[in-house]
This record gives sequence, structure tokens and C-alpha cells, in this order.
Amino acid sequence: MIATLEAIYVFAMGACFGSFLNVCIDRWPEGLSVVKPRSRCPKCGHQIKATENIPIVSWLLLRGRCSGCRERISIQYPIVELLVGLLWLAAFLQFGMLFTAFRVAVFATVLLGISITDAKHFLIPDGFTVFGLFFVLLTSFVALYLGQSEPFAGPWDAFIGMCVGAGAISIVGWLGEVWLKRPAMGFGDVTLMAVVGAAVGPTRALLTIFIAAILAPIVLLGVVYPLSARGLADDKGQTELALEASGGWRKRELPFGVFLAPAALIALLCGDAIIAWYLRFSGL
Ligand SMILES: [Zn+2]
Repeated sequence: MIATLEAIYVFAMGACFGSFLNVCIDRWPEGLSVVKPRSRCPKCGHQIKATENIPIVSWLLLRGRCSGCRERISIQYPIVELLVGLLWLAAFLQFGMLFTAFRVAVFATVLLGISITDAKHFLIPDGFTVFGLFFVLLTSFVALYLGQSEPFAGPWDAFIGMCVGAGAISIVGWLGEVWLKRPAMGFGDVTLMAVVGAAVGPTRALLTIFIAAILAPIVLLGVVYPLSARGLADDKGQTELALEASGGWRKRELPFGVFLAPAALIALLCGDAIIAWYLRFSGL
């Protein structure tokens, strides 16, 4: 367990990373730099002052509006800051003030960024995946030196996992394309699975795809389609038409990264237990 002061510090650190994650989510899909220029209000051009840039707190003090023109500031900002703060806190509560907690926290932050960007823009920016890949691979050597590899894969398994993850998702995408007779998956999913495979190793990389394949239809059929259909079906009462018109996720490539990202975190934290349970259950 960690002390209260450490917990507050870790949460605040996470919230700051969440603030930076917001910038990445907004700018990378547009091909913009995340370093400069400083953030401005998209409507009036008011430059966000340092005091207006405190994670969560500033949004609450400004009551979600720009101090220049009173334009609404998206609730995405404080929510992501809060989520990342909580992710970091959870990681350090689970693993203690150790290098492993830092790795889990950063990895989970990158996965959250990928999930949101893929859901909003149907793409996975290289900024996330290139950083993620180098972070996971380089820290695997540090972790090995510190004797803290678990629950991540060691350097050798990380390398094999990277290749297996990218290869396996490519095969899934290829067969999906043959079956659906249209592009089924973007290349971003391949880059994401390279990162995931490097983090969790080959076996749990395959498990990640399996978990995502279970998550995706449950979330799509259980949450996304009913929600998007309801608004339209109220007018015409034609559910089929509404589903067709809900567009977005239906007509385009499935943003599979939205599901691969949380699946990867599950595989990292509980993958070994799930595989052990499955082997016992199936008698293999
Ligand atoms: Zn403004």
C-alpha cells in the first residue's frame, strides 16, 4: 500500500498526463504538433493561460467555458484527466511505488488515448503506437535489470510478441476482408497489436485479439447500435432504416482498436489467470 500523500501525488501526475493526452487526442489526427503552439480556444483564439490549464480544477472553476468568449469547453477534457489520474492511482495502489506501476500506468494511458482517438476519428496515430512500442521495448530491459519484468513480457518475449501480435491481427484483417468483400480493418490495428504484443508477449497477444472479438459484438449490439437506432427509429419507426442511417461505425471499417486497447489491459493484468483457467476447463 502507498501513503495518502503519495496517492495524491500519483493521481495529480496522472491527471497532468491526462491533460497532455487530451492534446494528443485532439492534434495527432490532424497531423499537428503536440508541443507547440500553446493551446488556444478554437472559437475566439484566446490563449489558455497556465492557471487555466490545471487538470480538472480549471475546467470546474471556468464552469466548462472559455474565459474569453464563454464558448463551451468539451467535457472530454476533465473526464480524460480524471480517468488517467485514476488509472495511475490504481496502478500504484496495485503494484506499489515500483517501476512496474509506472510501466502499467503509461501503457494504460497510451491504450486509453488509442481507444478514444480510434472511436472519434477511426484512426490510430503513429504518435501513440511508435511511442508505445519504444517505451515497452526499452523499459523491458530496465525491468529485467531491476528484476521487475512481471506482468510484462521480458525483452525476448516482447520481440516475439511484437511480431506475433502484428502478424495475427493481419491474418484476421485479411480473412475478414475476404469474407466481407470490403476493407475490414485499418493498418492502425496492426501497429497497435505490435505494441500490445511487445507488452504482453505472444500468447497473451493472441488472447487480446480473442477478448476484443468477444467485447466488440457485445458493445456494438448491446450499446452502440441500440443508442444510435433509438434516436432515428422514434421518428419513422423503421429500425432497419435507422440502423442503416446510423452510419459511422456501420459503413466504415470497424474501429477494432477501441476494443483491442481495453482487451490488452485485461490480457496484461489477468491474461495468465484466464489462460490457466481455460487450460484446466478444457482439459488441454
Ligand atoms: Zn474562446
